[in-house]
Amino acid sequence: MSEKRLPDPCMDCKDRKAILTVRTRQLCSDCFVRFISIKVVRRMELYRLRDASHDRQPKLLLPLSCGVSSTVLLHILNGQLERQAASGQGRVAYKLHVLLVDPSTISIVNPSCEERFAQAQQYFPRHTYTRVPFHAIFQYDEGIRETISRFAGSEFEDRDPMSDSERLDAFRAGIPTASSKNDIDNILLTRLIVACARSFGCEAVVWGDSDSRLAAKTLANVAKGRGSSLTWQVCDGLSPWDIQFSFPLRDLYKSELQLYTVQVPSLADIIVPEQPMQENQSNRNLSIDELMKQYIETQGEKYPGVMANVVRTVAKLQQPSIPVGQVQCTLCGSCCESPPNSTSSGSTADLPNDELTDRFCYGCSRSQPSAGIIPSYRR
Ligand SMILES: [Zn+2]
Ligand SMILES: [Zn+2]
Repeated sequence: MSEKRLPDPCMDCKDRKAILTVRTRQLCSDCFVRFISIKVVRRMELYRLRDASHDRQPKLLLPLSCGVSSTVLLHILNGQLERQAASGQGRVAYKLHVLLVDPSTISIVNPSCEERFAQAQQYFPRHTYTRVPFHAIFQYDEGIRETISRFAGSEFEDRDPMSDSERLDAFRAGIPTASSKNDIDNILLTRLIVACARSFGCEAVVWGDSDSRLAAKTLANVAKGRGSSLTWQVCDGLSPWDIQFSFPLRDLYKSELQLYTVQVPSLADIIVPEQPMQENQSNRNLSIDELMKQYIETQGEKYPGVMANVVRTVAKLQQPSIPVGQVQCTLCGSCCESPPNSTSSGSTADLPNDELTDRFCYGCSRSQPSAGIIPSYRR
């Protein structure tokens, strides 16, 4: 058979026509999917098959939002486990528990993802699935009711009989600005996910944050005075709740993940289409988190190297170990710095016992309904 040279062969397999260019490589669809998968699987080194115990696989929690990134992560990890199960050894390195915090319970403008979540279960049946509403935080996180009550102070009255949903609504209604609301929502979501992980017996959470998302998170956290919690919010490692956090999509840009979903069309059944960004939306109505996300999506994609650098720089930071006696923020788990106007070094030894229970870090205290008074202490 005469060999016909393709006009634009794929640089990897040389067999098929290249249909897209990624990081200067022209690839066919299959090789692109493999290229992305390898970058993710490489980040799962902590859970390698050859290191896995024969009788007990670690369980990992994958929070699915039915967005592009977490859906791609589920598809890739599912593929990795399928290949392991089909290989000669017939066993897998870890098990996945997929958790959906129903987006419609976080904001009424979000659609409920019930059908999309059911679709995910049908496509990837080997995993365990749980769907919870946002207010399930009161069910899974025992300490949160007390914590938010102290955090909100007199602005929030937690009275029975109040349903969990009403309680969460009442608490969130007292948070003053769009930025603070978003900020506190993110903390509550993280706590809910961690509490679920613990309840399901998972030892780690695998987050679906792309490099672009991590860069936006980095910039937003610095702007919000939350620089000290950057390491565990952005880097692989132990979180303040003794659960491992992993970010296997950290080497991939959001645009590359979007391109991935085009190559795997069935994922459209799971992914909620993103609302187009409203150019004319006043920036004043955006929270810092949304503003940074928008900035990265519009500007950051033009300078991907800079974005990667933002995240890599944080990754080089040492995770600060919490010194003995240092107080952790009751809400977000970060280290509390010395309170203003205090001679205290921030050490527990200087505080009366009842004040140990409601110390909030600088970042959290800025979002308190009563922001303005010296926030780290209850008066
Ligand atoms: Zn190829
Ligand atoms: Zn805090």
